[in-house]
Amino acid sequence: MKMDPDDAATRRAARPVICYPTVTLPPVPLEAYRTALADAEIAGRVRIAPREAETFRVPAGAFFRVRSVEGPQVGDLNLWAADDLSERFYSGKTRALHGTHVSTGARLWSCFPHLRPMATIVEDDLDWYGIDSDGGSVHDVIGTRCDPYTAHLLSGRQYHACCHSNLTRALAAHLGCAATEAEPHVHDVLNVFMCTGFTRDTGQYFMKASPVRPGDAITFLAEIDLLGALSACPGGDCGSEHSSDAAPCHPLEVEILRPAPGSLAGWAEPSRNGYDRGHGA
Ligand SMILES: [Zn+2]
Repeated sequence: MKMDPDDAATRRAARPVICYPTVTLPPVPLEAYRTALADAEIAGRVRIAPREAETFRVPAGAFFRVRSVEGPQVGDLNLWAADDLSERFYSGKTRALHGTHVSTGARLWSCFPHLRPMATIVEDDLDWYGIDSDGGSVHDVIGTRCDPYTAHLLSGRQYHACCHSNLTRALAAHLGCAATEAEPHVHDVLNVFMCTGFTRDTGQYFMKASPVRPGDAITFLAEIDLLGALSACPGGDCGSEHSSDAAPCHPLEVEILRPAPGSLAGWAEPSRNGYDRGHGA
């Protein structure tokens, strides 16, 4: 390793600048969302078996709630525009805008060229957790999804119940196509209820047992018509290992909630990004 230059301390003391200040984003009308959620009626419920995934539809202006049932469990969430699977959740830009972990008031953004809110977090029963002494927090957009390719790379095994495969099977069943055809639509997830961070000494991605308990939930407003898919991660609470059948694993539940007519007055589906796509060409 190279020696520190004489002015190393000065260079390291440069002031951090937030890359993407969000003050110019339209404000999130959380109170209006919460009021609408308070009177919303359950319009559907999907149960996700351990080490499986299910798809669900949420119309724009309705809510969906992911709930822990039976035991601590992490879920891997994918979102697509219901009528155009090429518009899908962009975890990297969501991270750049809102931080490594998301909670109440954060929005889940779609990929280029759309880059608009797909969903907004309205309530989060784990918002008390904050950032722990290991630097860990809940609901991350830093992990990708557990997948059989990385598992094979690191261990040489063939394992088929990783979230990537669960999401692939669920989407294939929804579309009525082969798994190989559905697979390219599966993307980096929101890790619902997962507690993660980066180690301070090596900067490596870590996970620790999720603080979620049965009954805890996170609730989103669908800003556009959504197709969602949620996998009950084979890691269970992700306190020991994933990509295997070793960890105790529990179901998850998704509830679709329809607000009373007129209760979201003033809300409008966000339009696609206004960049003209000229790219200077
Ligand atoms: Zn997983």
